[in-house]
Amino acid sequence: MSNETPNAPVGLGPVRTDIIRACKDAGRDPADVTLIAVSKTFPADAIEPVIDAGQRVFGENRVQEAKSKWPPLLERYPGISLHLIGPLQSNKAKEAVALFDAIHAVDRPSLCEALGKEIAKQGRTPLLFAEINTGAEPQKAGVLPQDADAFLAACRERYGLTMSGLMCIPPQNEAPAPHFALTAKIARRNGLAQLSMGMSADFATAIALGATHVRIGSAIFGGRH
Ligand SMILES: *Cc1c(COP(=O)(O)O)cnc(C)c1O
Repeated sequence: MSNETPNAPVGLGPVRTDIIRACKDAGRDPADVTLIAVSKTFPADAIEPVIDAGQRVFGENRVQEAKSKWPPLLERYPGISLHLIGPLQSNKAKEAVALFDAIHAVDRPSLCEALGKEIAKQGRTPLLFAEINTGAEPQKAGVLPQDADAFLAACRERYGLTMSGLMCIPPQNEAPAPHFALTAKIARRNGLAQLSMGMSADFATAIALGATHVRIGSAIFGGRH
Protein backbone atom coordinates (compact mmCIF):
# COMPACT_ATOMS: atom_id res chain seq x y z
CA MET A 1 0.00 0.00 0.00
CA SER A 2 2.76 2.42 0.88
CA ASN A 3 3.98 2.28 -2.70
CA GLU A 4 0.73 3.58 -4.10
CA THR A 5 0.90 7.06 -5.54
CA PRO A 6 -2.35 8.89 -4.83
CA ASN A 7 -1.87 11.00 -7.94
CA ALA A 8 -1.00 8.14 -10.31
CA PRO A 9 -2.19 8.94 -13.82
CA VAL A 10 -4.70 6.11 -13.99
CA GLY A 11 -6.09 7.38 -17.29
CA LEU A 12 -2.91 7.77 -19.31
CA GLY A 13 -2.27 4.07 -19.97
CA PRO A 14 -5.83 3.27 -21.05
CA VAL A 15 -5.99 6.38 -23.25
CA ARG A 16 -2.76 5.38 -24.99
CA THR A 17 -4.11 1.86 -25.50
CA ASP A 18 -7.35 3.25 -26.95
CA ILE A 19 -5.45 5.54 -29.31
CA ILE A 20 -3.40 2.61 -30.58
CA ARG A 21 -6.55 0.54 -31.05
CA ALA A 22 -8.30 3.37 -32.91
CA CYS A 23 -5.25 3.72 -35.19
CA LYS A 24 -5.24 -0.01 -35.90
CA ASP A 25 -8.96 0.05 -36.71
CA ALA A 26 -8.37 2.95 -39.08
CA GLY A 27 -5.29 1.43 -40.70
CA ARG A 28 -3.16 4.28 -39.40
CA ASP A 29 0.27 4.43 -37.78
CA PRO A 30 -0.01 5.45 -34.07
CA ALA A 31 3.17 7.49 -34.58
CA ASP A 32 1.07 9.86 -36.72
CA VAL A 33 -1.23 10.76 -33.82
CA THR A 34 0.05 13.09 -31.10
CA LEU A 35 -1.62 12.84 -27.71
CA ILE A 36 -2.00 16.25 -26.11
CA ALA A 37 -2.67 15.76 -22.40
CA VAL A 38 -4.94 18.66 -21.48
CA SER A 39 -3.88 19.72 -17.99
CA LYS A 40 -5.99 22.88 -17.66
CA THR A 41 -7.27 23.47 -14.10
CA PHE A 42 -4.92 20.78 -12.71
CA PRO A 43 -2.01 21.79 -10.46
CA ALA A 44 1.61 20.80 -10.97
CA ASP A 45 1.42 17.89 -8.55
CA ALA A 46 -1.31 16.28 -10.67
CA ILE A 47 0.74 16.88 -13.83
CA GLU A 48 4.06 15.50 -12.61
CA PRO A 49 2.96 11.85 -12.39
CA VAL A 50 1.82 12.10 -16.01
CA ILE A 51 5.20 13.52 -17.01
CA ASP A 52 6.90 10.75 -15.01
CA ALA A 53 4.85 8.21 -16.97
CA GLY A 54 6.48 9.53 -20.14
CA GLN A 55 3.96 12.02 -21.47
CA ARG A 56 5.68 15.03 -23.05
CA VAL A 57 2.96 17.01 -24.86
CA PHE A 58 0.51 19.04 -22.78
CA GLY A 59 -2.36 21.39 -23.52
CA GLU A 60 -3.59 24.44 -21.65
CA ASN A 61 -6.44 26.75 -22.60
CA ARG A 62 -5.36 29.95 -20.86
CA VAL A 63 -2.12 31.85 -21.25
CA GLN A 64 -2.21 33.20 -17.70
CA GLU A 65 -2.76 29.81 -16.09
CA ALA A 66 -0.01 28.23 -18.19
CA LYS A 67 2.39 31.04 -17.32
CA SER A 68 1.86 30.57 -13.63
CA LYS A 69 2.07 26.79 -13.74
CA TRP A 70 4.52 25.61 -16.39
CA PRO A 71 7.87 27.48 -16.26
CA PRO A 72 9.18 25.53 -13.23
CA LEU A 73 8.00 22.25 -14.77
CA LEU A 74 9.63 23.08 -18.11
CA GLU A 75 12.86 23.75 -16.31
CA ARG A 76 12.72 20.48 -14.42
CA TYR A 77 11.62 18.27 -17.31
CA PRO A 78 13.38 18.82 -20.64
CA GLY A 79 11.65 18.08 -23.91
CA ILE A 80 8.11 19.04 -23.00
CA SER A 81 6.03 20.79 -25.60
CA LEU A 82 3.12 22.98 -24.59
CA HIS A 83 0.07 23.55 -26.77
CA LEU A 84 -2.34 26.46 -26.35
CA ILE A 85 -5.72 24.96 -27.20
CA GLY A 86 -8.01 27.79 -26.06
CA PRO A 87 -8.84 31.16 -27.59
CA LEU A 88 -6.06 33.74 -27.68
CA GLN A 89 -6.39 37.50 -27.39
CA SER A 90 -4.14 39.48 -29.70
CA ASN A 91 -2.61 41.35 -26.76
CA LYS A 92 -1.40 38.02 -25.36
CA ALA A 93 0.26 36.92 -28.61
CA LYS A 94 3.69 37.88 -27.28
CA GLU A 95 3.39 35.70 -24.18
CA ALA A 96 1.80 32.88 -26.16
CA VAL A 97 4.57 32.77 -28.76
CA ALA A 98 7.18 32.82 -25.99
CA LEU A 99 5.66 29.93 -24.04
CA PHE A 100 3.84 27.63 -26.44
CA ASP A 101 5.04 25.25 -29.12
CA ALA A 102 1.67 25.17 -30.82
CA ILE A 103 -1.34 27.48 -31.00
CA HIS A 104 -4.62 25.81 -31.91
CA ALA A 105 -7.18 28.58 -32.17
CA VAL A 106 -6.00 31.01 -34.83
CA ASP A 107 -9.24 32.49 -36.13
CA ARG A 108 -9.07 36.17 -37.03
CA PRO A 109 -6.94 38.72 -38.89
CA SER A 110 -6.01 40.81 -35.83
CA LEU A 111 -4.61 37.71 -34.13
CA CYS A 112 -2.78 36.66 -37.32
CA GLU A 113 -1.16 40.06 -37.49
CA ALA A 114 -0.06 39.95 -33.85
CA LEU A 115 1.27 36.40 -34.20
CA GLY A 116 3.15 37.26 -37.39
CA LYS A 117 4.92 40.13 -35.63
CA GLU A 118 5.83 38.09 -32.56
CA ILE A 119 7.02 35.09 -34.54
CA ALA A 120 9.32 37.34 -36.55
CA LYS A 121 10.52 39.18 -33.45
CA GLN A 122 11.08 36.16 -31.21
CA GLY A 123 12.35 33.80 -33.88
CA ARG A 124 10.11 31.07 -32.53
CA THR A 125 7.90 29.05 -34.85
CA PRO A 126 4.98 27.47 -33.01
CA LEU A 127 2.76 25.11 -34.98
CA LEU A 128 -0.31 27.07 -35.98
CA PHE A 129 -3.80 25.66 -36.37
CA ALA A 130 -6.78 27.59 -37.69
CA GLU A 131 -9.92 26.87 -35.70
CA ILE A 132 -12.95 26.09 -37.83
CA ASN A 133 -16.37 26.73 -36.29
CA THR A 134 -17.88 23.74 -38.09
CA GLY A 135 -21.23 24.05 -36.33
CA ALA A 136 -21.44 27.80 -37.08
CA GLU A 137 -22.19 28.32 -33.38
CA PRO A 138 -22.44 32.04 -32.63
CA GLN A 139 -20.93 31.74 -29.14
CA LYS A 140 -17.93 29.78 -30.37
CA ALA A 141 -14.60 30.99 -31.71
CA GLY A 142 -13.37 29.90 -35.10
CA VAL A 143 -13.69 30.68 -38.78
CA LEU A 144 -16.93 29.69 -40.52
CA PRO A 145 -16.45 26.80 -42.95
CA GLN A 146 -17.40 28.94 -45.94
CA ASP A 147 -14.76 31.53 -44.97
CA ALA A 148 -11.98 29.05 -44.30
CA ASP A 149 -10.26 29.04 -47.72
CA ALA A 150 -10.05 32.83 -47.86
CA PHE A 151 -8.87 33.01 -44.25
CA LEU A 152 -6.12 30.46 -44.86
CA ALA A 153 -5.00 32.32 -47.97
CA ALA A 154 -4.81 35.54 -45.95
CA CYS A 155 -2.82 33.79 -43.21
CA ARG A 156 -0.21 32.85 -45.79
CA GLU A 157 -0.19 35.78 -48.16
CA ARG A 158 -1.09 38.72 -45.99
CA TYR A 159 0.36 37.75 -42.61
CA GLY A 160 3.19 35.48 -43.69
CA LEU A 161 2.10 32.69 -41.38
CA THR A 162 2.93 29.07 -42.06
CA MET A 163 -0.21 27.23 -41.03
CA SER A 164 0.18 23.61 -40.00
CA GLY A 165 -3.42 22.52 -39.91
CA LEU A 166 -6.95 22.94 -38.67
CA MET A 167 -8.68 22.48 -35.33
CA CYS A 168 -12.34 22.01 -34.48
CA ILE A 169 -14.59 21.52 -31.47
CA PRO A 170 -17.88 19.94 -32.59
CA PRO A 171 -21.13 21.23 -31.07
CA GLN A 172 -21.88 19.53 -27.79
CA ASN A 173 -25.16 17.88 -28.69
CA GLU A 174 -24.37 16.64 -32.17
CA ALA A 175 -22.63 13.61 -33.57
CA PRO A 176 -19.01 14.72 -34.00
CA ALA A 177 -18.19 12.69 -37.13
CA PRO A 178 -19.62 15.10 -39.74
CA HIS A 179 -17.71 17.97 -38.08
CA PHE A 180 -14.44 16.04 -38.15
CA ALA A 181 -15.06 15.03 -41.76
CA LEU A 182 -15.76 18.63 -42.79
CA THR A 183 -12.60 19.85 -41.04
CA ALA A 184 -10.56 17.14 -42.78
CA LYS A 185 -12.04 18.08 -46.13
CA ILE A 186 -11.18 21.77 -45.72
CA ALA A 187 -7.64 20.83 -44.66
CA ARG A 188 -7.19 18.53 -47.65
CA ARG A 189 -8.22 21.10 -50.22
CA ASN A 190 -5.90 23.66 -48.61
CA GLY A 191 -2.92 21.32 -48.49
CA LEU A 192 -2.77 21.23 -44.68
CA ALA A 193 -1.51 18.00 -43.12
CA GLN A 194 -2.35 18.43 -39.43
CA LEU A 195 -5.78 17.97 -37.83
CA SER A 196 -6.35 18.87 -34.18
CA MET A 197 -9.61 17.14 -33.35
CA GLY A 198 -10.99 14.70 -30.81
CA MET A 199 -11.38 15.03 -27.04
CA SER A 200 -12.03 12.49 -24.25
CA ALA A 201 -15.46 11.50 -25.53
CA ASP A 202 -14.78 11.27 -29.25
CA PHE A 203 -11.09 10.80 -30.00
CA ALA A 204 -11.52 7.36 -31.61
CA THR A 205 -13.97 8.85 -34.11
CA ALA A 206 -11.58 11.73 -34.74
CA ILE A 207 -8.71 9.32 -35.39
CA ALA A 208 -10.85 7.38 -37.85
CA LEU A 209 -11.40 10.65 -39.71
CA GLY A 210 -7.75 11.67 -39.80
CA ALA A 211 -6.90 13.45 -36.53
CA THR A 212 -3.16 13.97 -36.07
CA HIS A 213 -3.53 15.68 -32.67
CA VAL A 214 -6.07 14.57 -30.06
CA ARG A 215 -6.68 16.86 -27.08
CA ILE A 216 -7.56 14.72 -24.08
CA GLY A 217 -8.13 16.06 -20.58
CA SER A 218 -10.66 14.36 -18.33
CA ALA A 219 -9.95 10.81 -19.54
CA ILE A 220 -6.37 11.27 -18.27
CA PHE A 221 -6.69 13.64 -15.31
CA GLY A 222 -10.25 12.98 -14.14
CA GLY A 223 -13.14 15.42 -13.94
CA ARG A 224 -12.64 19.17 -13.68
CA HIS A 225 -14.47 21.33 -11.18
C1 LIG B 1 -10.74 21.21 -22.22
C2 LIG B 1 -10.50 21.03 -23.66
C3 LIG B 1 -10.21 19.76 -24.19
C4 LIG B 1 -10.19 18.49 -23.36
O1 LIG B 1 -11.50 18.11 -23.06
P1 LIG B 1 -11.80 16.70 -22.33
O2 LIG B 1 -13.23 16.45 -22.65
O3 LIG B 1 -11.54 16.89 -20.89
O4 LIG B 1 -10.92 15.68 -22.94
C5 LIG B 1 -9.95 19.67 -25.55
N1 LIG B 1 -9.96 20.76 -26.35
C6 LIG B 1 -10.24 22.00 -25.88
C7 LIG B 1 -10.23 23.14 -26.81
C8 LIG B 1 -10.51 22.16 -24.52
O5 LIG B 1 -10.77 23.41 -24.07
